[in-house]
Amino acid sequence: MNKEFASMSKKSTATNDASIAIFERLESEVRGYIRSFPILFDRGLGTTLIDADGREYLDFFAGAGALNYGHNNPAFKQPLLDYIERYGIVHGLDLATCAKKAFIEAFERYILKSRGLTYKLQFTGPTGANAVEAALKLARLMTGRSNIVSFTNSFHGVSVGSLAATGNKKYRTAAGFPLAHVTSLPYDGYLGPSLDTIDYFEKLLNDPSSGLDKPAAVILEAVQGEGGINPASFQWLQRLRDLTARHGILMILDDIQAGIGRTGKFFSFEAAEIVPDIVTLSKSLSAIGTPMSLVLLKPELDVWSPSAHSGTFRGNNLAFVTARAALETYWADSKFEDEIARKSAILAEELKSIAKDFPSLGLTVRGRGLMYGLVFQKHHSLPVQISREALRRGLLIETCGGHNEVLRFLVALTIAEADLRRGLSIVRDSIGAVQDTMAKSLAEATPGIEVDT
Ligand code: PLP
Repeated sequence: MNKEFASMSKKSTATNDASIAIFERLESEVRGYIRSFPILFDRGLGTTLIDADGREYLDFFAGAGALNYGHNNPAFKQPLLDYIERYGIVHGLDLATCAKKAFIEAFERYILKSRGLTYKLQFTGPTGANAVEAALKLARLMTGRSNIVSFTNSFHGVSVGSLAATGNKKYRTAAGFPLAHVTSLPYDGYLGPSLDTIDYFEKLLNDPSSGLDKPAAVILEAVQGEGGINPASFQWLQRLRDLTARHGILMILDDIQAGIGRTGKFFSFEAAEIVPDIVTLSKSLSAIGTPMSLVLLKPELDVWSPSAHSGTFRGNNLAFVTARAALETYWADSKFEDEIARKSAILAEELKSIAKDFPSLGLTVRGRGLMYGLVFQKHHSLPVQISREALRRGLLIETCGGHNEVLRFLVALTIAEADLRRGLSIVRDSIGAVQDTMAKSLAEATPGIEVDT
């Protein structure tokens, strides 16, 4: 660990009270992650978090994919401090600033040119949902069609437009009125391994009686995050690209969670060798956790008239500074991709070994890069219990999937190999502990019967 960080007083200097009662008293019931991790966090570096009492935690959640480079990565902290020190513009609407210019130049150089991509850049409001809203609006504006196709188990945000394209009932119900103009179709594998859902989509498109209104666009994640870590096969992605191109339907690739190196390359769709028409980016784009979003669009789709889509916070210059530093530090060559591939192999191998060692739980492993899930198809309630057990042992790990049936591994891409192995060993122990508890309570409930968990 960094010497300065290690030598700092571990206890918070900001408060003497490590309780979170005030959040429970004053913050709305809508609170989410704080319920999984009811701890007063104070500081973080890399994959280490320290709470107000000075206890250390290992972070296997990485801000739901917003901290791919870890907490307070020193490579970005100094440029940020320097920028603030010299009174660099912080808020800039969509004005031209030196920080924004330097980011655009770096993005063109390290990301677009090296991949032969010619996208134009649209800066939107700072959240992922803001980028998705802009992408959907643009597709409708461009084609004059209102319907959008999204896929089962997708998550694209909770603002009304993006929510209509999101699958999970929990979020949809909260809208308070019917969500319209989106048709949900089966994602890759949704109907089992023997049915290619692209065939089904194509049949609907070709059948004038199918009831499917021709969509302006499809919106998809190449690896679904919130929906349960579902990677689409490269072949499915290629077939979808081909289908949409033939039918004049735009392809919006939502790379908000799976992008910025998460699945092994900067973009999640690169390995499938497809080029979407529109790409949404957010989360780890700013590199240090400050909000920033971006829509990439093919130049011929740039039908916006000036200021037709606006927003006060499209110019987070602090985010431009750190985002540029990240591109220069990690994406100037292929070393980082190699590093991700190495750690991905460790993660996948260890998860397979865990699955093998708990045969009665019927676990499966799925994912790509450093975006993996351990799936508890037989016991949906276990991942939440394992996450709680892991927290007691000093590890933050979240769940996902429609029934929270997936234990989700979103480690920082920069994680040290030793920390990766240490966290995985905590997961293994936590599964063991939860399995033992389950076996004990089953045995108590059914005395005299041998229990198979
Ligand atoms: N799209 C995807 C794929 C996401 O994973 C998320 C958030 O998890 C969003 C969109 C929405 O981003 P935000 O929560 O910043 O609005």
